[in-house]
Amino acid sequence: MKIDGRCHCGSITFEAEADPAKTVICNCTDCQALTGGAFRVTIPAESGTFRLLSGEPTTYVKTADSGTQRRHAFCPACGSPIYATGMGEDPKPYSLRFGTVRQREHFAPTMQIWTRSQHPWVRDIGSIAGHDGQPDSIHTRFGDAAPRSPSR
Ligand SMILES: [Zn+2]
Ligand SMILES: [Zn+2]
Repeated sequence: MKIDGRCHCGSITFEAEADPAKTVICNCTDCQALTGGAFRVTIPAESGTFRLLSGEPTTYVKTADSGTQRRHAFCPACGSPIYATGMGEDPKPYSLRFGTVRQREHFAPTMQIWTRSQHPWVRDIGSIAGHDGQPDSIHTRFGDAAPRSPSR
């Protein structure tokens, strides 16, 4: 399906074609560090369909233990990860980041990789107490640094 997306500040926008059935969770330790989260959810763009519509991402070349290099792109203003791509010839493969895709409610992961570095609580995330919004008790954990309502 046709998708589009943007970083948090909106300076970087893109469009692509993607198949929801190809959505993947990656639990590798590189994704944990690069996202600041426990895992990354990635949507592969169909070959040759990724198009940057606005903005100029900053890129970082990551070298894996295997020696494989991938170029990771993120917004220089807000830090949102946008994509990773290969170093070789065109058309390059583009891996898009779930949280930046506007149509993400249509995408659900169908595979997990690198579960050897998956955190045990991720496997059982439904058992962690949940709140529809943000209870006042969050302030006893974070004080003034408590998370705020999303801006959009
Ligand atoms: Zn941004
Ligand atoms: Zn990973």
